[in-house]
Amino acid sequence: MSDITKFIQGISRFQQQHFGNNPDLASELKDGQRPKALLIGCSDSRVDPALLTDCAPGDLFMVRNVANLVPPYETTHGYHGVSSALEYAVCFLEVSNIIVMGHSGCGGIGGLMETAAGKDVGEFIGKWVSIAAPARDKVLEKYPDKSPEEQLRACEKEAILVSLGNLVTFPWIKERVAKGLLALHGWYYNIGTGQLKYYNQFSGEFEILVEPFTAKS
Ligand SMILES: [Zn+2]
Repeated sequence: MSDITKFIQGISRFQQQHFGNNPDLASELKDGQRPKALLIGCSDSRVDPALLTDCAPGDLFMVRNVANLVPPYETTHGYHGVSSALEYAVCFLEVSNIIVMGHSGCGGIGGLMETAAGKDVGEFIGKWVSIAAPARDKVLEKYPDKSPEEQLRACEKEAILVSLGNLVTFPWIKERVAKGLLALHGWYYNIGTGQLKYYNQFSGEFEILVEPFTAKS
């Protein structure tokens, strides 16, 4: 079976799974969407947010990019893909939650760490991941003696906090958060174990939200 055949057959199974026993779903979805959350995830093939959260069509509005980053609010000329998605989800769909989901073994954050040593990580990637340069610098300053692997794990988490901070530079996000209409969440998914942690703003730590799958077997 060719790689593309696998995907075509997957569409057939998807149709049966979501619409086979629920014909009302298609008619509900065809006229619009009412997702409850916007999720900003990484493009990494191992961390598809809809798969990980077992969502149905219409549940999640999603942005995926290298290293699940949110740029700061900018009004410069240019193509602001992430900002457009934020605007649509927040101002038009009026989602009540935004989740920034990072993960272990992130190649984008790995590239960011390598830029500290002056390595060229690509024509577009280096500039893009520099959004999280404050996270990289903080980790290198805080954990100078940790192994590169441990520094990377720490930077993956710190970068989530940079994105959460950048979210509130958007005035319409800041306003809705202040009014209690919108909640921001930082999640960290461990690919090797399936464990999900969340950022507890009161403790300042990432704490367990879902136990590893290894603990459930
Ligand atoms: Zn990643």
